[in-house]
Amino acid sequence: MFKYTNMWIIYAIIAIAILCFIVAVINKIKNWQIVHSIEKKKKLDREKASRRRISTKDKEYVLKRDNYTCQICGISKQFFDDMCPGSGDYLLLEIDHVKSVYKGGYGSDVNNLQVLCWKCNRKKGGKKSNEDLSRTITYGIHYLHPKMKSLNSYKGSDYYE
Ligand SMILES: [Zn+2]
Repeated sequence: MFKYTNMWIIYAIIAIAILCFIVAVINKIKNWQIVHSIEKKKKLDREKASRRRISTKDKEYVLKRDNYTCQICGISKQFFDDMCPGSGDYLLLEIDHVKSVYKGGYGSDVNNLQVLCWKCNRKKGGKKSNEDLSRTITYGIHYLHPKMKSLNSYKGSDYYE
């Protein structure tokens, strides 16, 4: 009787040990999967970042090619310089990926780059294309760097937005 009870306890301990081992193995696999997916995501992020990158040389080239003019609304450095010499330097122009990185575009390809004013660039985002945006020209002081808001007094504030 005593011997039989002892055996039962040993079986129970073996069963628990096997269970613990199975749980440990499952956890190991789960951890491995998590680490693996994190590394995969990091790799994708790195790849996206490298595709987003635009070299200074290309930026300058695109600005000159597009004549410092937004390719959607048409606002330009010249427009502001004509009104107030030097103010065009404060126009916030950005280099945009025509086909966004999100859609597989490359920043290293100058044919995939264009000049946009910051307003059109925000409207376009990563999912829209130039054609999705209206070409309504709303020239105004809001295109300039905040420091240039004082330009408002230059030709009467009613003229600008
Ligand atoms: Zn624009």
